[in-house]
Amino acid sequence: MREQLHKLMQLQVLDSKIRLHDREEATYPAEIEKIQQEISRLVEAFQAEVSKIETLEKERRQKERDLEAAGDQIKKIQGRLHEVKTNKEYQAFLAEIDHLKEKMDQYEVEIIEHLDEVDRLKEGLKDKEKVYFEEKEKLEKRKTELEEKLKHLPDELRVLKDRREHLAQEIPAPLLKRYTTLLEKRGGVAVVYAVKEICQGCHMNIPPQLFNQVQKGEEIYTCPHCNRILVPEEMSQDE
Ligand SMILES: [Zn+2]
Repeated sequence: MREQLHKLMQLQVLDSKIRLHDREEATYPAEIEKIQQEISRLVEAFQAEVSKIETLEKERRQKERDLEAAGDQIKKIQGRLHEVKTNKEYQAFLAEIDHLKEKMDQYEVEIIEHLDEVDRLKEGLKDKEKVYFEEKEKLEKRKTELEEKLKHLPDELRVLKDRREHLAQEIPAPLLKRYTTLLEKRGGVAVVYAVKEICQGCHMNIPPQLFNQVQKGEEIYTCPHCNRILVPEEMSQDE
C-alpha cells in the first residue's frame, strides 16, 4: 500500500504543477500587458518633465532674441535723433525709447525667471532620473521574465501531462477515480501529508489513533475533516 500512497503523492505533485502552469498560462498575458502599461506611464511622465524644460528653454531663447531686437531698435532710433526737426517729434522718439527700455527690463526679468525655473526643474530631474531608470529596468526585466516563461509553458505542460498520464496508468482504477473526485471537490489537492498529527490539507488535528494508523501506511486513510487522503509524514523524506 505504501507504494500506492507514494504514487498517489507523486500524482498529486504533478497535478499541482499542471494546475499552476494552467493558471500561469491564463494570467501571464494580462500581467505582461499591465507591466507594459506601467512602463508606458513611467516613460510618459518622465518625457513630460523633459519637454517642460525644453519648452521653457525655447521660450527663454525667444525672449533673448526679443531683448536683442529691442536693443537694436533703440540704437536705430537714437541714430535718427539728429534728423528730428520739431520738439513734438523729439518727444515721440524719447517716448518710444522709454517704452522699448521698459520692455527690455521686462524681458530681462522673465529670462532670469526662466533660467531659475529650468535650474530647479533640472535639479529635480537629476534625482528622478536615477529612480526612473532603475524602475524602468526593473519592470522591463520582469516583463521579459514573464514572456520567457509564457513561451516555455506549453512545452513544460506537455511533459508534465505525459508523465501524469503514465503515472495514472500505474494506479488501480477505483483508487484513481477516488483521487480524481477528491481533486475536483477539494480545490486541486486530494493527497496530503499527515505531519505531527495535523492534516496538511485543512490544518486540522488528526486524532492520535488515526494518525498512528496513517503512519503505518497499510491502508488508505482520509482526514476526518476534509476527506483528503493522508500520507505518512516520513514519506515526505523520500521526495
Ligand atoms: Zn484535512
